[in-house]
Amino acid sequence: MSNDRWLRGDGVSPGIALGTAHVVHWELPRVTLRSVQRDQVDREIVRLRGAVAAVRKLLEDLGERTRQRAGPEEAKIFDAQILMIEDPEFLREIEHLITDNQLSAERAFEFKTLEMRALWAQSSSSLLRQRVADLTGIQIRVLSHLAGETVHGVLQSTDDHPVIVFTRELTAELIVQLEREQVAGFASEEGTRTAHAAILARSLGIPGVMGLVGGFDRVANGMEVLIDGTHGRVLLEPTPDDVAEAQEVDRRRLALDVQLGDAVEEPNVTTDEVTITLRCNLDLPEELDGAAQHGAEGVGLLRTEFLILGRTELPGEEEQVAFFGRVAKRFAGYPVVVRSYDLGGDKFPVAVHPTPEANPFLGWRAIRVCLDEPDILRTQIRALLQARRHGDLQLMLPLITQVEEVERVRELVEEVAATLEREGVPAAEDLPLGVQIETPAAAMMADQIAQRSDFLSVGTNDLTQYTLAVDRGNARLAGRFTPLHPAVVRMLKHVVEIGKRAGLETSVCGEMASDPLAAFLLLGLGYRVLSVAPSALLVIRWFIRQIDVRGAAEAAQQTLDVATTADAIAILEEAVAKYVDLNLLDAGRLQGGWSQATLNRQS
Ligand code: PEP
Ligand code: MG
Repeated sequence: MSNDRWLRGDGVSPGIALGTAHVVHWELPRVTLRSVQRDQVDREIVRLRGAVAAVRKLLEDLGERTRQRAGPEEAKIFDAQILMIEDPEFLREIEHLITDNQLSAERAFEFKTLEMRALWAQSSSSLLRQRVADLTGIQIRVLSHLAGETVHGVLQSTDDHPVIVFTRELTAELIVQLEREQVAGFASEEGTRTAHAAILARSLGIPGVMGLVGGFDRVANGMEVLIDGTHGRVLLEPTPDDVAEAQEVDRRRLALDVQLGDAVEEPNVTTDEVTITLRCNLDLPEELDGAAQHGAEGVGLLRTEFLILGRTELPGEEEQVAFFGRVAKRFAGYPVVVRSYDLGGDKFPVAVHPTPEANPFLGWRAIRVCLDEPDILRTQIRALLQARRHGDLQLMLPLITQVEEVERVRELVEEVAATLEREGVPAAEDLPLGVQIETPAAAMMADQIAQRSDFLSVGTNDLTQYTLAVDRGNARLAGRFTPLHPAVVRMLKHVVEIGKRAGLETSVCGEMASDPLAAFLLLGLGYRVLSVAPSALLVIRWFIRQIDVRGAAEAAQQTLDVATTADAIAILEEAVAKYVDLNLLDAGRLQGGWSQATLNRQS
């Protein structure tokens, strides 16, 4: 294969896909035409009305297609946008701007929407702030239409040929609009495997590459491309031989999966007979059955925010009771750890177009949102207490930095339990409360937090981000984002020791547990409960059965003494090679992220 046709990035969702490139410009176009002559004012109004009518039709089509393919809830995002664009007051004001100030249709539209955006973004109502994302969608579509560009409704391929979506940044809003039947794969310039959009793409099973470096401008609409989401590369205009070769490698990956699947009935025991508990991280309801069939011993992290992707309102109590109850029943006899909404940062709905904040990841997110708007949390707690009658549901809190936050939530749980009792609503009386250790503050205060918690679970994605001051979604920094950095490894050791001393279950639910090499380190450091992505359940289960914790502990001890990530990786690879063929392991691993390959790319 000739190299210059390959674009390289991070594999964020495994598998290969072949299709035609579909470049999505999901960005606000620059408005160049600003004012017009007086005699052209009527023409501008006609242009405005024409664009609005066209976009409205597009939104209706999209809504209908989404309703059929994904369901009424997912389609609601378009209903909200249609309502907005139909608002006579809104249109009248734009037309006035055109007539009174001789503005072009696009300038007047931009002016009005910017005004609304500023107003909503500052609003204290979270609902209005969420509407900002809808407004952006309309803005992009109307302005692009006026500029003569086609904005596909994110995707409207003209035939049934599968498409590979190329976009600068793959946001959660964009993903939720991808029509799975047509989208065979995606690639983006921005983003890394721990970005939430990547986590979601893995859940949807769409092969993907993020953080493509260079060459993006060589991708043209309609070009035939091959995407290799396992190895993090994209091949432009592949030959039949290229395709055959890539398919062969992918067949080996799938064969490995089948082979691993045979172990699903076997216990998670190492060769020196240490039992490990293997749970799953669930992002989407669709993953439930697969994860249960792959032998997950409960859910170590249920990310609730993905339930509300593409929606304009938070789900009500009944819907949450039904959903939590369904998960609890599917995992009867095992714990199901539900995380309270972790909104903000790079997550929808607050996040996609958030209230302008200089540093959203250090901003109003996660537990801060829930405590500032306690009704959001109250509804989740009410739902959990009711659904707990069907299984061992537990609540986990993200982004804790102060023990007061845990105490406050405990008070809320007690208050809500008392209210339910007063109302005569059948519900459990208690709710185990745990903390996601994902900030350096929480790691260093783990002893105090442990006194106020029922369990601890380390979120290594954010812990790495905050410890190393590296944005987890920034492709340019992908090589610097590594949970195998000695600073993170030492924190992981600290937390597991504290957890043990306090007699609390202490697990890891960050993405690193899904990587065999990193899982080896975690077991060596003393973790006995791992919660992994559903797609990693089989490989980690198989891996656990190949190794012994004695060897893992020796290697982990050595990594605590090294100065660099590269040294830690070398120690782990040397140790793991004693048990398994590293090449075989690589076939099932995502390339990139914190692997040696990324470190090489960085240097
Ligand atoms: C983490 O931060 O490690 C984690 C598991 O949570 P999320 O990826 O959803 O932020
Ligand atoms: Mg996190």
